[in-house]
Amino acid sequence: MVTRSEILIRGMVQGVGFRPFVYSQASRRALRGRVRNNTTGVLIDVEGMHEEIEGFIDDLKTNAPPLSYIESVECNHDLTPADYSDFIILESAHEGEQFVPISPDVGTCDDCLRELFDPHDRRYQYPFINCTNCGPRFTIIKDIPYDRAGTTMADFEMCGDCRNEYEDPLNRRFHAEPTACAVCGPQLSLSELASAPLAIAAGDDVIPRVREMIRDGKVVAIKGIGGFHLACDALNQRAVERLRNRKYREDKAFAMMASSIEIIKEHCAISPREEQLLLAERRPIVLLQKKSDSQIATGVAPGGTHFGFMLPYSPLHHLLLKNLDHPLVMTSGNISDEPICYDDEEAGARLRGIADYFLLHDRRIHMRTDDSVVRVFQNREMVVRRSRGYAPAPVRTEFRFAKQILACGAELKNTFCMARDNNAFVSHHIGDLENLETLRSYRDGIEHFKRLFHLRPEVVAYDLHPEYVSTKYALSLDEPLTKVAVQHHHAHIASCMADNQIDGEVIGVAMDGLGFGTDGRMWGGEFFVADFVEAERIAHLAYAPMPGGAKAIREPWRMAAVYLQQSFGDEFVDLNLPFVKNSELRSWPTIRSMVATKTNSPLTSSMGRLFDAVSSLLGVRSVVNYEGQAAIELEAIADLDCGHAYEFQVKNDTIDAAGVIRSAVADLLNNVAPAVVSGRFHRAVANLIVAIAGQVRAERRLNRVALSGGVFQNMLLLSEVCRLLRERDFEVYTHSRVPTNDGGISLGQAAVANARIQLGRI
Ligand code: ZN
Ligand code: ZN
Ligand code: FE
Repeated sequence: MVTRSEILIRGMVQGVGFRPFVYSQASRRALRGRVRNNTTGVLIDVEGMHEEIEGFIDDLKTNAPPLSYIESVECNHDLTPADYSDFIILESAHEGEQFVPISPDVGTCDDCLRELFDPHDRRYQYPFINCTNCGPRFTIIKDIPYDRAGTTMADFEMCGDCRNEYEDPLNRRFHAEPTACAVCGPQLSLSELASAPLAIAAGDDVIPRVREMIRDGKVVAIKGIGGFHLACDALNQRAVERLRNRKYREDKAFAMMASSIEIIKEHCAISPREEQLLLAERRPIVLLQKKSDSQIATGVAPGGTHFGFMLPYSPLHHLLLKNLDHPLVMTSGNISDEPICYDDEEAGARLRGIADYFLLHDRRIHMRTDDSVVRVFQNREMVVRRSRGYAPAPVRTEFRFAKQILACGAELKNTFCMARDNNAFVSHHIGDLENLETLRSYRDGIEHFKRLFHLRPEVVAYDLHPEYVSTKYALSLDEPLTKVAVQHHHAHIASCMADNQIDGEVIGVAMDGLGFGTDGRMWGGEFFVADFVEAERIAHLAYAPMPGGAKAIREPWRMAAVYLQQSFGDEFVDLNLPFVKNSELRSWPTIRSMVATKTNSPLTSSMGRLFDAVSSLLGVRSVVNYEGQAAIELEAIADLDCGHAYEFQVKNDTIDAAGVIRSAVADLLNNVAPAVVSGRFHRAVANLIVAIAGQVRAERRLNRVALSGGVFQNMLLLSEVCRLLRERDFEVYTHSRVPTNDGGISLGQAAVANARIQLGRI
């Protein structure tokens, strides 16, 4: 019997080839009707034999196109048949205030790759080839609805061939909005300065020329999907050094791109899960264990144990790296801490002293996004920087956001988050909000998200720190908003809970750099009993002064001196330690009086600062040139097979590190190797966490532990803590979908604000 049904599919179903997929499935089953996009998803009106419709609905759920994501399928059966004679795809209809998720950018698919290298294909070697299943999305979208006119591809008028493909429901480029070819689409150009093209402008010669330049040791700025990269030969020590010097980035590791998994395997040990992530269409940078015999220039990743590698993700990359047996450095095109360049003129101005040449193209980038960075922890993906390929896909939550919420995030590694329903739209990585350029991208990003997702936030959540730029931004908003301040480490723990889709009370362990506490001090070594509404502080590291404030972060020796003074008194200067003879110590008398008079010496309970102190005490790193460097290098040398561990003293709610410092000093005086001292320190911190979790379990009958904060980027510590906790039958939660560092703060703020609103606490 012929019946008619209406099917509404919600989720990531637009711009991902969903309608042609529906068309082909319906045709296969001889069903008739219509399909169109509407503002909530894809709406199908179908009639035919009842069993066929049932089968059709099953097919839709199980065989959906690779980039799609179905949130829900709502059916309305037994409608009056309309006697359709065929099945057709209708144009989109837009009404109302609903929203449809927008696809992140997607790495070049296999079909496009085949065409790219097929001499008989009309897009042979065309560097901007893409289709319904791949290509730029988020970075080129200016406005919704998502169609060509709303993207930066509006600059290019489709040729007849491209238009025919675009309009043919059976073609794999049906409604592929960024589709283009060499006749009608974007073109490459090469220049010495971004402003002045070289003699060769466009055409076939550009890519071989750039390959030559890189082989000759030149640094080339390459315009990509979300911004510029600076590229050079990763095996060429001099080229790498030159790039490093010009970029004022003294030690921070550079990411690399290699032509294949096989090339990466020459330099790194790769697990199957890591291989899978490298090959995923999101194409993140994956942090991989270095091999000791790798020929990569030492300047690429000094001091660390890992390389960051990615595979080509745009057709331009595939052409540039084809059959190349050397990996390329592909680091963000910026000067130290500034955001990545994304516009030609700006890149020309800011990168002119760094790049020898510019490889440009005329497709504009609307939203800058950095490469995402991930690693594998216990066979699970762990996002370190969530950006291109991930944003703006929502982080789905178990709970529903009662109102539309804007969470402003933290100061460093900022992301913001806009939440509604079960979706937390955590933004791409914005960066450190300490210069005007980043602040501009922050404001622009927030406006853009509001537009794209039809959001009008009624609630704004922000960090307690009064000096954060994101806090000032939140407080400056004059719309009739409810404003909710969320303590930094409560946000960390809530973020970990939302990340793992758990609810209720947990033992929250926040080991972090710095975050403003409810007592006005800088927290960062905190134990809580927490849920989404509240965080009760159970224990914390004893306060220590940070002489010079921010200077104590850049100069870990200051923290080492402070901790030595707390452990040995002023006589520590007479200890027979290399640290004490350190030239930096010449300014100790000044620093000492700052501490004594409590001048510019904020108090902190930060575990990150204690790692800094130990790193400097061991002679590993006394002055840093990027955030976290001292701790990263301390981790890199640590040997956990170190006999015993040091011990923290816990009195009431205060954790005293003096015993740990004294034991470390005793070891150093006995010429115990720094690797062993570092190992004993790491194990002391792990044991401390397990001991306090045990106490809280006994007192509060809680068995779940949520671990969050920047210190848990230390894989050695995190593995040890997880191992010990699981041995004692704790349920342990670590980050996966959002970073454990401050990039995850915005999600936590949104979750806390929501919980308080639902309880009527605001
Ligand atoms: Zn494709
Ligand atoms: Zn064309
Ligand atoms: Fe933090």
